[in-house]
Amino acid sequence: MKIIMLGAPGAGKGTQAKKIASKYNIPHISTGDIFRANIKNNTELGRKAKVYMDKGEYVPDELVVALIMDRFKEADCKNGYVLDGFPRTIPQAEALDKALLENGEQIDFAIDVLVPDEHIIKRMSGRRACVGCGATYHIQYNPTKTEGVCDVCGESLILRDDDKPEIVQNRLTVYHEKTQPLIDYYTSKEILVEVDGTKDMEEVFSNIVNVLGK
Ligand code: ADP
Ligand code: ADP
Ligand code: ZN
Repeated sequence: MKIIMLGAPGAGKGTQAKKIASKYNIPHISTGDIFRANIKNNTELGRKAKVYMDKGEYVPDELVVALIMDRFKEADCKNGYVLDGFPRTIPQAEALDKALLENGEQIDFAIDVLVPDEHIIKRMSGRRACVGCGATYHIQYNPTKTEGVCDVCGESLILRDDDKPEIVQNRLTVYHEKTQPLIDYYTSKEILVEVDGTKDMEEVFSNIVNVLGK
């Protein structure tokens, strides 16, 4: 099964993608996580991406597409994947379709997690990310057992630099301009699924499972 997660920054794409990956036994591929790992390891890709990410801008399409095509070559992708944060622009979506078509493949579902902008700033200011394993929490909606410490690996949690309100505002603007057009793109391919992302995490997930199948 090949799945794309769509939705504003902070809508809950990552949260749901992790649950999907574990239930359907497919890899969770987050371009944001891959960039952050590269930044942490100070690779050339990381240094290039950071310039854009820090401002809340998108990393250029050619960098993102090259990275994802590389990732698809890994063995774990053979039964599908859940893409979280890719594609984010029409050129990225077209590059993905083209690459899939060459192997006679296609995306099965594009899941749009709908959360109005008014909710997003609050979601983001409460998001905490683990510096060790990338697990995501929320100080109010999904707290860790011990404050500031990751439940999974015991490392410490941070507020991402790009989750600060002034950057989040820009990310929302960029999202509406560049990513929202993908909703029409996947609607016309008849694979768009909309879920209400303002519901609690388990309810959102069960609505997704109803569509993907048990
Ligand atoms: P969120 O979880 O809030 O949706 P991500 O972790 O997916 O954010 O992405 C963080 C940042 O990484 C984005 O703001 C952007 O700068 C960059 N990025 C991630 N995926 C892409 C993409 N497909 N195209 C361009 N930039 C991307
Ligand atoms: P995205 O990947 O779309 O940027 P995340 O999955 O990282 O979003 O979620 C953003 C923040 O909101 C995180 O702190 C997460 O724990 C929290 N969150 C995710 N889904 C929900 C939900 N349904 N209700 C409340 N908070 C949520
Ligand atoms: Zn951790």
